[in-house]
Amino acid sequence: MMKKLVSIIGVSSLSIMLAACGDSSEENSNENSGNYIPPSSSVVSGQFFNSNETGKYFSSEKSPHFAQYGQNARHCYQNYNDYYFESDKTMVFGNPDLPPSDFKQAASWVENNFASALTSMGISEQEFFEQRTNITFFALRNLRAWLYWRDINNFTYPNEFEQWNDSQKYDWATKTVKSMSTDDAVNLILSSDLHYSSREELIIEDKIYVCLHENNQPWGWGEGTAMGITIGAESIVTPNNVDKIIQHELIHTIQNVLSTDFDGFKLPRWFSEGQAVYLSGMSVAKKADHNEYDPTLVVYYSDEYGDISLAYEHYALAYQYIKDVNSQTTIITMMKNLKTLTFDYSIQLNSELDEDHNYVEVFNNHMKQQNGSPLTVTEYRDNYHSLMSSYAN
Ligand SMILES: [Zn+2]
Repeated sequence: MMKKLVSIIGVSSLSIMLAACGDSSEENSNENSGNYIPPSSSVVSGQFFNSNETGKYFSSEKSPHFAQYGQNARHCYQNYNDYYFESDKTMVFGNPDLPPSDFKQAASWVENNFASALTSMGISEQEFFEQRTNITFFALRNLRAWLYWRDINNFTYPNEFEQWNDSQKYDWATKTVKSMSTDDAVNLILSSDLHYSSREELIIEDKIYVCLHENNQPWGWGEGTAMGITIGAESIVTPNNVDKIIQHELIHTIQNVLSTDFDGFKLPRWFSEGQAVYLSGMSVAKKADHNEYDPTLVVYYSDEYGDISLAYEHYALAYQYIKDVNSQTTIITMMKNLKTLTFDYSIQLNSELDEDHNYVEVFNNHMKQQNGSPLTVTEYRDNYHSLMSSYAN
């Protein structure tokens, strides 16, 4: 069974691409303060806990994956997994030798800016936690693989199952896992796999998981992940615009919650960064300057070129256009629909576009251009500057 499982996991991990964000500089900025929602300055209260007493760890997974925890949280699941400060909405993990004030400050920063980030995105906190997948991606991928291979005996399979081709079985297994309740999925996993022994190993709490790092560079200080956020300790270095940076990273967290399934992150880089830059009130390129960059060609981090601050401002401009024309509500609906689709590697291989084929489908279904005609991914790549020219006038 394990051999089959690995081959499936190997295929779908190709679709995962995340990258840490820069600390976009604000000098010479084209003001976007209208989109900035200053956080409340309240100091949140909470308490320190030992995970060995509560059973809640940063991660209990034997193979933690960056799709879940981000690129920069390794120390939190390897070394500082079992000591945390818990507030109403956060659990802050990090080196126990750091001063307690670092943990408390992180909880306050995150809680206060989380409220702003939710407002900017246009969703409620309740919706955030309802949309969030409460079981680790890795466990859900295993569950899908077992269903696909019909390795689970105490499960009722559809009558047509044996007549289906591989792609139909895979789609059914994916949708079945996505539509399962948390309790049903946990029970099925625990009854099917000796590797997992308790519910706690699988469950993600209804909290923003915060991992404190100890890097002394302001560059790459924050990273938004499916679990929450990795940020620096206040006593080591605090970047300028710390609130905007935390809001930006928490918008990445919300993106993950709304649109990422256990096959990984599906949004192109220009979209994810553009949304985070624009809605956190960071600097946006002027419409008239659209010729400075080709944002919609940047699907992956490796596509990014030139000055990063300039690139980020243009990602935000590309986002501003689709938001102005289509509304934030429509974009959120599109992102939620993205999460329901099944990634199919054979379709991706045959696609002419680098973008995730599920993203292409939802974008083409939902987005319109300024004149009311449908806007496709291809059109937004190929005709970006002519669309922007009309938009600028
Ligand atoms: Zn970012």
